Amino acid sequence: MKALVLGAGGREHALVYALKKSSFVDEVIAAPGNGGISKMVEVFPLNPVNSKEVLELVLTQKVDIVVIGPEAPLVAGVADVLRKEGIKVYGPGRAGAMLEGSKAFAKRFMNDCHIPTAPFDVCSSFDKALEALKKRTPPFVIKADGLAAGKGAFIIDDATEARNILDQLLVKGVLGEAGRTVVIEDFLAGYEITAMAITDGRTYRMLPLSQDHKRAYDGDKGPNTGGMGAYSPLPQVDDTLKAKIEDEVVKPTVEGLKRKEIDFRGTIYAGLMIHEGSPYVLEYNVRFGDPEAQVVIPICDVDWGRIFVSCAGGNLEESAQINAARSGVGVVMASGGYPDKYETGFPIEGLDALEGRDDVIVFHSGTRMEGGKFLTNGGRVLTVVGLADDLKEARDKAYRAISSITFKDAHYRRDIAWQAFV
Ligand code: ATP
Repeated sequence: MKALVLGAGGREHALVYALKKSSFVDEVIAAPGNGGISKMVEVFPLNPVNSKEVLELVLTQKVDIVVIGPEAPLVAGVADVLRKEGIKVYGPGRAGAMLEGSKAFAKRFMNDCHIPTAPFDVCSSFDKALEALKKRTPPFVIKADGLAAGKGAFIIDDATEARNILDQLLVKGVLGEAGRTVVIEDFLAGYEITAMAITDGRTYRMLPLSQDHKRAYDGDKGPNTGGMGAYSPLPQVDDTLKAKIEDEVVKPTVEGLKRKEIDFRGTIYAGLMIHEGSPYVLEYNVRFGDPEAQVVIPICDVDWGRIFVSCAGGNLEESAQINAARSGVGVVMASGGYPDKYETGFPIEGLDALEGRDDVIVFHSGTRMEGGKFLTNGGRVLTVVGLADDLKEARDKAYRAISSITFKDAHYRRDIAWQAFV
């Protein structure tokens, strides 16, 4: 069986790593990939949201299964185009991807399915949005409906500033179509975790819970980023809360999709706020989280190829259990200045010495290869993952490995997994 991984980040590097280890998959290719991925498998340049280009590659390369990493091709309907041609795909079609592609759709879905989420209003006009704002007390939560690469959610204390954001989105259209409709919702205090599950459209399996670190600096300070690190499993989450997450969020999500006749084959990601001991869904994603994938995939002692193929085929085995066999801590090394302006093209030193270890894996997010050397090529550059029986040891391994990797202006958080140790 030949597999194609679509995408170019650390998550996709982890997917390639998982498929390379699978006894179910004989050959792996990636498109467009990155420096680290190109060292493992053959890569092909293409635009992943262009379904014509993807289909052409799949047909010429005789690919049997496509694993789609990022949200943009899913929301663009690339999976539908491939499935129409009889290709197996791990990743939902456009209808299922709406859970991530439209926050208004996701919130209405949650209401229909009685899934706990913050009370909300969906507004497409400035006047209606002002009314929704007036009903609430600060902090105000305003979200653009469509995909905005993590730049579409605003938490604001000041009413005048909130009004200004609404003006920017609904009147001036600064986020284009993505912001022409907004969701205004109640603020929920608590702590955030990630619940992911895989599904074949009929049944599902929970993956170990994980936690991302969105802010750029230690102590959860600074601007929001794509994610500065993750760890899994979560020792602070007890079995009662785990059961609530499964019963109140994951199960009704899969049941709701079935009831609405949305054939969802892929990863369901629920970004949860744990508020007064109970889970509330802040957002759905329809693919693995990045950087959560880089820790959750390697800690599970399963054949991921077999799982992706069976989900794509609609026949996930009832017996397939996915448990954490180890603990994992992943620390993102970013370019200095990220998430704002940063420079790229700096050589990365120290990677060779870490190769071949099974307790430390370096996944590449933004790198490219030039003359046999890796150069920085993005905001998030690497995810350095430590794996061990115990979370503390996994964290120590990740940080020890990071101290041996250098590139100009490298920046990383020193407190990944802090919430597990308080
Ligand atoms: P991303 O895809 O980068 O996670 P997004 O643009 O899809 O972000 P959300 O995940 O919905 O938007 O929100 C971004 C962040 O804002 C959340 O991770 C959370 O920290 C905060 N947030 C969102 N909704 C609420 C809420 N109702 N109450 C408190 N905080 C919230």
